[in-house]
Amino acid sequence: MTREMVKRISGCVNVALRNRSGFGVPKLGPPEVTHILRKNESHLEVNEGPVHGLDLNQLPSNNPIEDRLMIARNKLTTGATFGVFDGHGGSKMAQIISQRLPHYIALSVLPPKLLETYVKSEQKPVLVERVFSLDNLSEWQYNCHMSSLQKFGEEILNSSVRSTTKELLDKGFEYLDNEISEEILNTKTDEALQLAVQGCVACVSHITDQHLYVASTGDCRAVLGILDDSGKWLARPLNKEHSTENVEEITRVISEHPKNEQNTVIRAERLLGSLAPLRAFGDFTFKWEKATIEQHLVPLYGDRVIQQNYHTPPYLTARPDIVHHILSPRDKFMVLASDGLWEMLGSQKVVQYVGQFMQGIQTLDLFRLPKAQITLGEVQSMLKQRKQDLTQKPVDTNAATHLIRNALGRSEYGIEHTKLAAYLGLPAKLARSYRDDISIIVIFFNSDFVANRNL
Ligand code: MG
Repeated sequence: MTREMVKRISGCVNVALRNRSGFGVPKLGPPEVTHILRKNESHLEVNEGPVHGLDLNQLPSNNPIEDRLMIARNKLTTGATFGVFDGHGGSKMAQIISQRLPHYIALSVLPPKLLETYVKSEQKPVLVERVFSLDNLSEWQYNCHMSSLQKFGEEILNSSVRSTTKELLDKGFEYLDNEISEEILNTKTDEALQLAVQGCVACVSHITDQHLYVASTGDCRAVLGILDDSGKWLARPLNKEHSTENVEEITRVISEHPKNEQNTVIRAERLLGSLAPLRAFGDFTFKWEKATIEQHLVPLYGDRVIQQNYHTPPYLTARPDIVHHILSPRDKFMVLASDGLWEMLGSQKVVQYVGQFMQGIQTLDLFRLPKAQITLGEVQSMLKQRKQDLTQKPVDTNAATHLIRNALGRSEYGIEHTKLAAYLGLPAKLARSYRDDISIIVIFFNSDFVANRNL
């Protein structure tokens, strides 16, 4: 959905609110609204390395939801992978990528000796432990996954040049996408061929010690929340979305095809007039040769499965953009979210809301004096700050829920219950026309740990 569409939709919801019967909006009371908002929320107390804790939430608009969240801790090294996956055409590709990608990342960060042990062992050691995930791989996918990981491990082990973590993350994304393409063509079962027309975008972060990597393909976003010396919250987006709102990305896509296609490669703000993200996993009807699509997919889906103006594939890639950032004690949190959030709130607003949430949530604890000696003047100033923070005390105790409440309910007068009730009360069939699935992970950093690592 483009931002223009969101504006139009917000306008419609506002009109519906003014004239209550507009969409047949059921009257949800504040407790019902809160119940819906909190239904999928989770808080995980991690206290490991640089990560202090995690707040997660998802609000579906598709039924069932097509987004996936994944948190996986490395078993053979320190570090963990956090990911948001936004599927389209169904949720299968997002399920599979969210399950498989963390293993490729865990292999990519293994020291050579451990990589060799993994590759040569008969009984494979467990690479990652899933901390949060709702899915499992089918038997077919699991078998493909294990043999593909072995090949990936052998390839990086036997490479004559030792690649950097950034290069390996990059390689992992494209490798996995190619593997899934081959697995589908080798298997040709209905399960496999149905997967060929689905896709997903992904934004994943791998964090170990003070090293934070973000690898993203498509239009999810990762934003760092930074507290500057004057107490102001600053937002630093760590990736650029691969969508038609990114001019560099449009230029890249057009430059990869002959001149006579420059008016058809991107039409109506979509790739070949059809797909919104300009990079994604899967979506093999934008990647395979036309003859391959005709042979395997046309018998199942008819001619309409061939994209218009399909002359010089591939039009789509899963290649990610990768950023390496060294955490500083000023970096307080990171928000990873699907486009459903970013369509409604900009990066700065998201960081401001989470920052205020962090300050407000502290007021829910009892006031305690620090152990060190403290003057009366300092106590007075702490109490004054606490009084100010109390005015920002959030309704929710989960930062991801707080963001969803603000995304849907915030107006210039604060959070409006009627606006929230209108969005959340839409019948399931209508909901997708008014907003997208929203999936959020907020990662809170342990500033003391980060400060010690940077000494
Ligand atoms: Mg989406």
